[in-house]
Amino acid sequence: MTARIIDGKAIAAELRARVAAEVIRVKQDHALTPGLAVVLVGNDPASEVYVRSKHTQTQAAGMASFEHKLPADVSQADLLALIARLNRDPLVHGILVQLPLPKSLHTETIIHAIDPAKDVDGLHPHNAGRLAGGLAALSPCTPLGCIILTKSVHPSLEGMNAIVIGRSNLVGRPLVQLLLNENATVTIAHSRSRDLAKLCAQADLVYAAVGKPEMVRGDWLKPGATVIDVGINRIPVEGGKPKLVGDVAFQEAVKVAGAITPVPGGVGQMTVACLLVNTLRAACAIHGLPAPA
Ligand code: NDP
Repeated sequence: MTARIIDGKAIAAELRARVAAEVIRVKQDHALTPGLAVVLVGNDPASEVYVRSKHTQTQAAGMASFEHKLPADVSQADLLALIARLNRDPLVHGILVQLPLPKSLHTETIIHAIDPAKDVDGLHPHNAGRLAGGLAALSPCTPLGCIILTKSVHPSLEGMNAIVIGRSNLVGRPLVQLLLNENATVTIAHSRSRDLAKLCAQADLVYAAVGKPEMVRGDWLKPGATVIDVGINRIPVEGGKPKLVGDVAFQEAVKVAGAITPVPGGVGQMTVACLLVNTLRAACAIHGLPAPA
C-alpha cells in the first residue's frame, strides 16, 4: 500500500484563487481593497524569502501589500511606533511581524502591540484566548492550513483520534484548539511525553510540528492514518544545496499511512494562502461585512 499524497501546492492554489475572487467582489461591491503590512527586521535570508513570497502572493490576490524593512539594530521604541502607525492606518487590515526577531527586541511586547483586529498571524493573546474559548478568532495560518489539508481527505473530523506532536504557540497549541472545534479527540505530545510511538499508534490523524528531521517513524503509525508533516528542516548535503525534510520519515511513512503531506509541497504551501484568507477576513470584519465563505 502506498499513501495518497496530499497536494498542498494544488490545494493552496485553489484557496488563493478563491480569495482573489472574493477580493474582486469586495472591491466592486464595497470599494474595499484588503491591505497587508509585513514588517521585516534585519536580513535573515530565510525570513527574506518568506516575506518576498508573502508580498508577491498578496499582490497576485489583488490586495495591497505594504512592506516595511527595518535594520537589525532598530530600537524597540521605533518598532512599536511603526506598529502603532499601522494600527491606525485605514488602508492596512492585516499586520504581520516576521519572526524570529533579533534578540535585542522583546517579541511578546511587539506581538501584543498589534491591534487584535489586524493580527493576521493570530498570535495576540486576545485571538489565542478566543480560539481556546471556541469563539470566532483570527487563527494562526499554519494550523489553519493543516486543517484544510486534513479536510481534503476527511471532510468531517468528528470523533477521530488525533495526535499533535509539538505545543508551540505558533503551531501545536492553536492546532489542538482547531481540532477540538472540529470535534476530534486530541492528544498533545511534546518533549516530555513518554513513548511517542505508542501514542501515535492510536491516532487516525498525526500532526508532526517538532523541528526534528524525520523523527516520526513509519512503524509508529496506525495503518491508514493521515499524516500532516509541518516540519521544515534543512539538512546539509555535501557539496550541494541543503535538502528540505520534514519531521516525518517520509519514505517509511508513505508505506503505512493512508494519506500524507510531502515536504516540500505540503503544509508550507498553505501558510501564505491562509495568511491571505486571514487578511480578507480581517478587512471584512473591520468594515462590518460578513465573513467570506
Ligand atoms: P518550536 O521549536 O517552537 O516547538 C517545537 C515543539 O516540539 C515544542 O513543543 C517541543 O516540546 C516539541 N518537541 C521538541 N523535541 C521533541 C521530541 N523529541 N519529542 C516530542 N516533542 C518534541 O517549533 P514550531 O512549532 O515553531 O515549529 C515546528 C516545526 O514546524 C519546525 O520544523 C518549523 O520549521 C516548522 N514550521 C513550519 C511552518 C510551515 O509553514 N510549514 C510554519 C511554522 C513552523 P516542548 O514544548 O516540551 O519544548
